[in-house]
Amino acid sequence: MDRLIDSHCHLDFPVFADQLDNVLQVAKEVGVTEFLLPATTYQSWQTIYELTIRYPQIRAAYGIHPYFLAQETLASVDELEQFAATHNAVAIGETGLDFWPDQIHRDTQIHFLEKQLQVAENLRLPVILHARKSYDELYALVKKYRIPSGVVHAFTGSLVQAKRFIDLGFVIGIGGVITYPRAQKTRQLAMSLTNNDFILETDAPDMPLFGYQGQVNMPAQIVKTAEVLADLRSQSIVDVAHHSRNNVLRTFPKWY
Ligand SMILES: [Zn+2]
Repeated sequence: MDRLIDSHCHLDFPVFADQLDNVLQVAKEVGVTEFLLPATTYQSWQTIYELTIRYPQIRAAYGIHPYFLAQETLASVDELEQFAATHNAVAIGETGLDFWPDQIHRDTQIHFLEKQLQVAENLRLPVILHARKSYDELYALVKKYRIPSGVVHAFTGSLVQAKRFIDLGFVIGIGGVITYPRAQKTRQLAMSLTNNDFILETDAPDMPLFGYQGQVNMPAQIVKTAEVLADLRSQSIVDVAHHSRNNVLRTFPKWY
């Protein structure tokens, strides 16, 4: 089986600080050997960069997550282009729109998103997108920029919404949601995508799998998501691992 890539995990979060060597070793033992860390805050950029230096199996994306905007100023996003250009970035992100209740004002989110999309266009980098209740608005904004490729991570939208992003050159991030029996819509979507359209992710330490609610999610768990996806698609896990890996490397051409 191809070695698995966790295309979205937050190994820079404090919960992993004292146990990162162990987390990576446990993952390696089940065949998960490479990791993409999307930044969430300005403060995390340097930490993630240092992890790429210390661990050759870690890749970096730099951006500002919509969920954390309250603590950010526009000055930080103004530094993004320069930082990403000089710190081994394989993508810009995670950015996006989060329209769940009690999030920061939509106009502020849109402003930060467009700044980051402009950086991705300028540097010809892919983007890692976060969306909640915002797929149509996000699509309309992303379409305005020349973004070479990217991923809509932890996708839970409709097939029509997924297809629009795929037509723009994006792939769909498939994570632990599909392990929940009640997630019928997302499980159905995972069955309908072509072999070129999906990449596997965990979003660790968030989004624990079904049966592991309340626990810290780990990159090693991606194997269980791959098994569920293989079941849903009536494919072997070998095929699922192969397609996911190919799609990650196509989506993020600066990986190697
Ligand atoms: Zn994330």
